[in-house]
Amino acid sequence: MISRRFSPLRVFLAATAILVALGLYVVANASQFASDYRAVTHTYTVLRHVDRIESLRHQAVAEARGFLLGGRAENRDSFWRVGGELQREADVLVELVGEDAAQGARATELGRALEARLRMSAEAMQSTRTGARAGADASLLARTRAIDLDVTRRIGELRASGTTHLATHARRAERSAWMTLLAAGIGIPLSLLLIGHAQRLLSRENRVREQAEAAASASNAELNATVQQLARLSDSMAALSQYSGMLQGASDAQELYEITAATFRRLLPGLAGLLYVIRASRDHAELVAQWGGAVAPNDHAPASQACWSVRRYAPFAMEDLRHGLRCSHIGRPHGAEDVHGLCVPLSAHGEVVGWLSLQGEGRGRIPDESLAIRLCEQLSLALANIRLRESLRHQAVRDPLTGLFNRRYLEESLAREIAHCQRRAQPLAVLMLDIDHFKSFNDRHGHAMGDAALSAFARMLKTRCRPEDIACRYGGEEFTLILPETDLPTALERAEDIRAGAALLRIGEPGGAMLRITVSIGVALMPEHGDVGLELMRAGDRALYRAKHEGRDRVAVADGRVEEAMEMARG
Ligand code: GH3
Ligand code: MG
Ligand code: MG
Repeated sequence: MISRRFSPLRVFLAATAILVALGLYVVANASQFASDYRAVTHTYTVLRHVDRIESLRHQAVAEARGFLLGGRAENRDSFWRVGGELQREADVLVELVGEDAAQGARATELGRALEARLRMSAEAMQSTRTGARAGADASLLARTRAIDLDVTRRIGELRASGTTHLATHARRAERSAWMTLLAAGIGIPLSLLLIGHAQRLLSRENRVREQAEAAASASNAELNATVQQLARLSDSMAALSQYSGMLQGASDAQELYEITAATFRRLLPGLAGLLYVIRASRDHAELVAQWGGAVAPNDHAPASQACWSVRRYAPFAMEDLRHGLRCSHIGRPHGAEDVHGLCVPLSAHGEVVGWLSLQGEGRGRIPDESLAIRLCEQLSLALANIRLRESLRHQAVRDPLTGLFNRRYLEESLAREIAHCQRRAQPLAVLMLDIDHFKSFNDRHGHAMGDAALSAFARMLKTRCRPEDIACRYGGEEFTLILPETDLPTALERAEDIRAGAALLRIGEPGGAMLRITVSIGVALMPEHGDVGLELMRAGDRALYRAKHEGRDRVAVADGRVEEAMEMARG
């Protein structure tokens, strides 16, 4: 973490402050330097004027002296011209040094001394012209010398002061230049260093921020993935619970298969599904549902061990059906496309009841494998429950020896079938069947053989039944057959068929004596003999009694009125 004390902004501000201070200092120094420069230039001008004044003074004195010695008029004229010039120069000097009181006083005094000196030379030239020269010479010379000395001294003072001034300003200018150089030499590298440092801090801060942003975006992505996973999980849980609820509501296995196909199609789109259920014989399985259009050929009735998932008792993933290991109920894919798959065993209460096979295009594992497995767990439970329910129902309504419906079921369903046929104005036939002399069959051949005969008779009966017929064991060696929507001629025909079928039965162990049985059948019809179950059964019983009475191994109809009905039917 970069401390706030050394934040890049602060360092930048410090660098900027140094640069601004440096700038101000340079400006101040430059202006000082300029002022010193001006002073130096001014002093040089003053000294030049002093030099000029001295030179003019000597020139004027020389011209005057020339005139005094030679009496030439050009010397005199030159004296006046040079003298005039000298006075102007003296005035200019006074103006130039006016700002400096001491120099101003010196210049003024010099001006006066020069004026006096010129005046003396003029007087000397005048006295030469007038001839009063001899007497005046000695005093004039003495005053002239005194003034010359005074002029020389004042010029010297002016020059000395100017030189001092010059030296002072030159030193100051030099110091300003050095100080500027020093300030720039320290300030510029220092501010550059600070800027560099700020830049380093900034880039470090940027790096830290980028790292923090990367970390934040990574954790954000992780969070999003988790949220999506949770959403998927929640969807899956919802779908799973909906599926489980629907499975629980299914009334039979067929409904289970349909619900399963619809659910897998919705939750795992793009995957073909095949649902196999192992038959009661346990050696083969049966394809009971299929969805999504299989992408590889599949056996419709494979051996129950054809699936690896059944053998291994665990889900079996096939990442490449074309080249890799696969279950033998799946054929090699035909087309050029790769196919992958997953088989999940359906097992409950320690027993494998079937398997579910999923197949999709391409190689690899199927997505949502865990969802598929969990759906299969639900399906397994539901299948086992349905089987249990069916078995309980079977036990409740079936006779264990013959597998036919029992008497309780007969009574229930007879009332239902009667109502059904009445609604549709259709007839219904009830056949009462009783095996002839069965007591003596038992007595002669034993109870076990009697049981075998009952079973064989029931099997024969089933083969002669339509799906809508209801065959029951009424009790002992007595049976009842309900034939919905069957009129008397058909009922008689069916009864005769059954009677003949019973007569053809051969009962016994292979190689042993083949025993025979016969059956007597009484036929009653709705509506002719009644429209209540009990009534019809009694009428059937009466007809059966008549068949027995008339010699057994025959079919009889309930009463005479039926004969009339038959006549009518035939007519
Ligand atoms: P009928 O021709 O008049 O019907 O004579 P029947 O001997 O068949 O009639 P009956 O009612 O006298 O005898 C029925 C016999 O059926 C008595 C009983 O031993 C036998 N039986 C009843 N239930 C079973 C069974 O579950 N197994 C065997 N083996 N015999 C049974
Ligand atoms: Mg009987
Ligand atoms: Mg009998």
